[in-house]
Amino acid sequence: MPLESTAAIVLKSFPYGDTSKIARCYTRQFGKLSVIAKGVLTSKTLQSGYLEPMNCISLSFYHNPKRQLQIFSKAEFSRPLLSLKNDMKKLSYGFAVIELVDRTVRGEEPHAELFDLTEEVLSVIDMSTDHLNRIFWCFEIALLSLLGFRPHLSECPNCQKGMTEAFFSLGYGELVCSRCISGSALSVSTEALTVLRQLKQSNFDSLDKIVCGAKVRKELGGFLAEYLSFHVEGVREVRSLRVMERVLA
Ligand SMILES: [Zn+2]
Repeated sequence: MPLESTAAIVLKSFPYGDTSKIARCYTRQFGKLSVIAKGVLTSKTLQSGYLEPMNCISLSFYHNPKRQLQIFSKAEFSRPLLSLKNDMKKLSYGFAVIELVDRTVRGEEPHAELFDLTEEVLSVIDMSTDHLNRIFWCFEIALLSLLGFRPHLSECPNCQKGMTEAFFSLGYGELVCSRCISGSALSVSTEALTVLRQLKQSNFDSLDKIVCGAKVRKELGGFLAEYLSFHVEGVREVRSLRVMERVLA
């Protein structure tokens, strides 16, 4: 079995027996994979601490593509997240990020851009002091774009006319104009549509320029959650998002 090394983000981990630990990781080179770290809970080295959710690590493991569980060799931090784990609000957003990625990525399919985006957003959450919600929405929109579900925000995809306000059609899965709604739809106001366009054009550094009030924030959070759960299977079950809504309410 070859010894491989890759950048990885720990998605989930749990003890296995009295002495070992299993960790599900999203890796830059191999997509999602699980490793078993034998004896790590009793060893005097600190290796067990690297295999905690949200940690961005450099992971070495023995790779056998025929096995579901790979054998952990060692790890070290690649990007230390110094404040994320000591702040309830940041922690909630961090968990929502990795849970979304966990639900979105299937198996050992590498996607370097998605990996880099996830690592970047965790770092940005870690270092930010404000507007965590805008960081998270920006991540959701970038994630949707990488998955091929970038929402249409300017022209109605049905009649190609410009939209000043929009309606998320629960049957069609797209934002459409008032003339094209059929069936039940969630309305997205002119203000919320403007913020969505700004978020789509922004990177994580320029989010402080986006201003939005409480009503628009509620509208945006609701629309993005609906849109994601329509397009990405399993997102409705993202527990961290529900926990976060309670924490932030
Ligand atoms: Zn239309």
